[in-house]
Amino acid sequence: MDPTDRFSNRSQGLRASEIRALFAVAARPGVVSLAGGMPAADALPSQVLARILGEVAAEPGALQYATGQGAPGLREMICTVMAEEGISADADDVVVTTGAQQALDLVTAVLADPGDVVLAESPAYVGALATFSAHGVHVRHVPDDGAGLSGPAVAEAVDRARRDGRRVAFLYTVPNFANPSGVTLDAARRAEVLATCDRIGLQIVEDNPYGLLRLEGEPLPALRAAHSGVVYLGSFSKILAPGLRVGWALAPAEVTAKLVLAAEAAMLCHSGLAQIAVARYLANEPWIDHVKALRELYWERRQTMLGALSTLMPRGTRWRVPEGGFFLWLALPDGVGAKAMLPRAIQEGVAYVPGTGFFADGSGDDHLRVSYSYPEPAAITIGVRRLARVVKEAAEPERNRRTPS
Ligand code: PMP
Repeated sequence: MDPTDRFSNRSQGLRASEIRALFAVAARPGVVSLAGGMPAADALPSQVLARILGEVAAEPGALQYATGQGAPGLREMICTVMAEEGISADADDVVVTTGAQQALDLVTAVLADPGDVVLAESPAYVGALATFSAHGVHVRHVPDDGAGLSGPAVAEAVDRARRDGRRVAFLYTVPNFANPSGVTLDAARRAEVLATCDRIGLQIVEDNPYGLLRLEGEPLPALRAAHSGVVYLGSFSKILAPGLRVGWALAPAEVTAKLVLAAEAAMLCHSGLAQIAVARYLANEPWIDHVKALRELYWERRQTMLGALSTLMPRGTRWRVPEGGFFLWLALPDGVGAKAMLPRAIQEGVAYVPGTGFFADGSGDDHLRVSYSYPEPAAITIGVRRLARVVKEAAEPERNRRTPS
C-alpha cells in the first residue's frame, strides 16, 4: 500500500501537543515545572477515594458495563454541583463523559463538520484546539480587547466567516479563569455575548472546569445559568481527581440524545466504577468543604507566584492577576520569543508553555503560560527566579555578554 494512502485526510489534523512533549522534559529531576496544569498532589483526596473505590468495586454492577449516558445517581449529583454555578438542570439532560476533554470531542463531532469554523478566545485552551483540529474544524480566534470576548467582536468574527462561505458551528469559551489567559468574563460581557449569540443564532459551548476554584471576588453565574440553549461542559478533574476521568456535558435534549449516541459509538460506556465512586463521594463526603480547602491551597500558591513575579521579573514583563483557576499568562519584554527561550529555561531548571500552543495559527510567541497549581510554594519561588534570569538574559543579550557572571 502506498504509505500516503494509509491515512485519512482527517488524521492530518492530529498534531503533537506542545504540552505533552514538554511533560517528559519537565519531569526531569531538578526541573521545576510551571508548565502543566495538574492539581496539587495534596489536593487529591486519595485515602477517601481508595476506600470508596474499594467499597464500590465489591458491589454488584460496578464492574459491569454501564449505560452510554452515565449512571443516573451520578447525573443527579452533577446537577447539585452545577447548582453551585447558578445552573438549574435536569439529570436527563446530562451526559457523563471521560473528562471534559471527551465532552469537547463528542460536542465537536455532533455540532461541527470538517471545514466548519469554530470561534474561540485569544488565546484558547490547547486541548480544545487539538480536538477541533482532529475533526478538521477551523479555529478563528475572536480578538480580546483586554477583558475577554465581547459581543461586537463575536458578531464581526461570525460575519467575516460567513462572508468567506464558512458555516460557523459554535463559539467555544472558558468564561471563568480561562486556560491559559486567566481571564474571567465579567457580568456585563456575559450578558452581551449571550445576547449577541442569541441574535445571530450562534451556539455557545461553555467549558467550565475551574469555575468553583475562585480565589477572590464574587462568583458569577455560568452562561448556561442565563440561557438553557448553551451547551455546558464540566469536570471533576480539578475539584476531585483527574485520574478518575469523569466529566460531563449538559445540553438541550435534542443535543443530549446525539451526544449519547456518539458516546456509545466511541466507547459503549464510561467506567461504572469511577462513576459510582464519584457519586458516592459527592453524596457522603463533605465535598464543598474539600473545594473550600482547595481554594485556600491555590490562593496561597497564586500569592506566592504573584509575589515572586513582582519581585523578580525584569521590566517589560506583564501579567494580569487571575481571580481563580491555575494559570498566569505572561507577556514578555519586547523582542523575547517564548519558544526560542525554552531550551535555555530547561537548562536553567524551569519549564513553561510557550504562548504559541494556544493559537491555531501558531502566533503568541510573545507570551508564555505558567501554572501555580502543582509545585509547592518553595518550588514556585525557585522556578520564577530561574525564569526571571532567563527572561532577563533574553531581553538584554548584549548586556549579558558584556558582563558575564
Ligand atoms: N477544558 C479546559 C479549559 C481545561 O483546562 C482542561 C484540562 N486541562 C479540560 C477542559 C479537560 O479536562 P478533563 O478532561 O480532565 O476534564
